[in-house]
This record gives sequence, structure tokens and C-alpha cells, in this order.
Amino acid sequence: MQARPARPDETYNRCMTDSDSERPQMTGLIKRANGSQNVGLGTLARPSAGPDEVVIEVYAVGICGTDLHIQDDEFPSTPPVVMGHEVTGRVIEAGAGAEDWLGQRVSPETYFYTCDRCAACLAGQRNLCPARRSIGSHVNGGFARFVLVPQRNLHAVDASVGEHAGALYEPLSCVAQCLFDPAVASPGDTALVVGPGAMGILSAQVLRAQGATVTISGTSADAQRLDIAASLGFAPVLASELDSAVPGIGFDVVADASGNERGIDAGLRAVRKGGRYVQVGLTGKPISVDIDLVCLKELTVTSGFASTPRSWRRVEQLIGAGLVVLDPLVTDVSPLSAWETSFGRTRRADGLKLMLDPRMDT
Ligand SMILES: [Zn+2]
Ligand SMILES: [Zn+2]
Repeated sequence: MQARPARPDETYNRCMTDSDSERPQMTGLIKRANGSQNVGLGTLARPSAGPDEVVIEVYAVGICGTDLHIQDDEFPSTPPVVMGHEVTGRVIEAGAGAEDWLGQRVSPETYFYTCDRCAACLAGQRNLCPARRSIGSHVNGGFARFVLVPQRNLHAVDASVGEHAGALYEPLSCVAQCLFDPAVASPGDTALVVGPGAMGILSAQVLRAQGATVTISGTSADAQRLDIAASLGFAPVLASELDSAVPGIGFDVVADASGNERGIDAGLRAVRKGGRYVQVGLTGKPISVDIDLVCLKELTVTSGFASTPRSWRRVEQLIGAGLVVLDPLVTDVSPLSAWETSFGRTRRADGLKLMLDPRMDT
């Protein structure tokens, strides 16, 4: 297949231009301008697929911390742009060369464009390409009835996964990027996941798939999330009682999915000497932790940023083998028109994974 030629930034969001006003319109949740807030529903032209592109009818988009950071202008974006990058739906239009995808239920990787020439791209690390442009921040994303993506980004959603839960392929691929290559846990290991949000419960499932026995910690505000973790077979523990749950020598593996200073501090203390510590969560700001613990305990510290084609393949294998389930994580599905309430609840960690389904608006 011929590589897509580079396109200047301003042409990515071609459906935002006035010349498209004759085309059928749709509603999208748009970051309208730089600066805090400047987010709201707006009308734009429906996309149409060019060669090697498809249009997905969106079934669900997960609300992610990154969306809140875009709302607050703490994460770079190129307004005006439709937000939303945790997408699932069905391919309803396919450009030349992409016809095989027509009718399939899919979830797309988030990169609309990478240069395919830099050292990172050539090593399969499209996530680290400096020219990377992703849907939901630089190119129109999924908080709309339809979204346009390149066919090379598509992954078929397993038949076992519900039509909304398919939007969790993207966060699971980020978790897989953090926890594999090399795998951080071995059979018989004890593991602690700090933070029972979606990333935490996905991390717990991946660590279990690697053979670890997993404890997951949260605060008293996380009661519903800890209940969901318990229903999936993980040992829940309140952060205030974590000390009593730490094995004698400490956990073999600790993964922080809280992005919280106190959670990270507790995790570094709970991991055993010579153990492995994985940073899954983002703090969004500099924090104060005792980094000497990394030396004093000879910790191996790893992480991951976004996802790669390889981590998406791992997702397909984990889901296909039944080692990770997604549907129990979806606690709320709302129309686009309720975005403000759902964003606010995500901000307050009320619910586990909140999603918007644009079909509910029509
Ligand atoms: Zn996300
Ligand atoms: Zn590149």
C-alpha cells in the first residue's frame, strides 16, 4: 500500500471549512479555541472517506482524563477540533482500497498522521513521532455522529465485546504499552495497582494475565470502583489500610494508575527491594516523591506513552483469549447533549468509565 502523503496541518480538519456548508451536517463536541474551557456542541459537515480512509458511525466514545486536560487547556490541541479519542463504532463508508472494512465493528488507533520516516516511526513507535497528529486533539475525533480515520488504524472489535465497551480498546492499548515488552509480572508474583479507575482495573487484568495475584487500592471515595474491582476477582484495599495488605517483603510489582502524589508515594513504599514499579497514570503537574527509594530499593522503573500497533495487537489477543473483559467497566452511557454532566462526573471520579453515544441525540 502506498504511504499517505504528508498534509499540512490546516487541511486535516477540512470538514470544518465553510466551503463544506452544502454537505450534510452533524453535531460534535468541539474545542473551539485555545484557552481554558471554550468547549461546547457545534455543527460541522459530515466527513467523507478518501482513498485508504473510512468513516465510522460512532457507537461510543469514552471520556478520558485527557479530554478534561484539553478542556482546561493543559493538553495541546488545534482548535477548532472535535474532541474524543476512545472511539468505537461501525464502518459505514470506505474509500478506495478500504472496502474490506465496510460494515465491520471497529476501534481505531488514535494517530491520524505520523511521518513514517523518523527513527521512532521506523522502529514501530508511532507514539513517539514528533509529527504525530491524533484524533480528538489535532484532528476531528469521536464526540460526533461520524468520524474519519485512516484504514491502517482500524482494529476489529471482538464479538464478545459490547457495542459501547469497544471504546475501551484504546485505554487498554495504553495499559498494554506500559506493562509489556518486557512483561512486568511473572506467574506467582504479587502485584499492587494503585488507583481503581479504568486504567487501574485494566492494569490489574493485564497483570493477572501475566500470572500475578493482584491487590488494588483506592480511597474511601472509590467505593463503587473498588466494588467493580472485587467483582472481577481482585483484592480491594483502602489506601488507609494498605500497610496491612503489603506482603512481608513488599509487592513484586507496583503499578500506579492514580497519577496522584500520595498514591505514587504509597506505591514506591509498597514495592519490594529489587521489584518493578510502573508509572501508568499521569499527574499533570510536577510532584514531590522520595525518588531515593528507586536507588535504595534498586527498583526497575518503566512506563509507556499512548500506544503502538504492537500494543493494539496485544489487546486483540488479550480480549480474544478472554483474559481481559471490558463491559463491566462501562458504568454510564449518555447522549452528547449531556456532555457537561458526564465530564463533571469524570472529574469527580463519580462512576468508572463514562461514555457518550451520539446516536442517543437523534
Ligand atoms: Zn484516553
Ligand atoms: Zn515519525
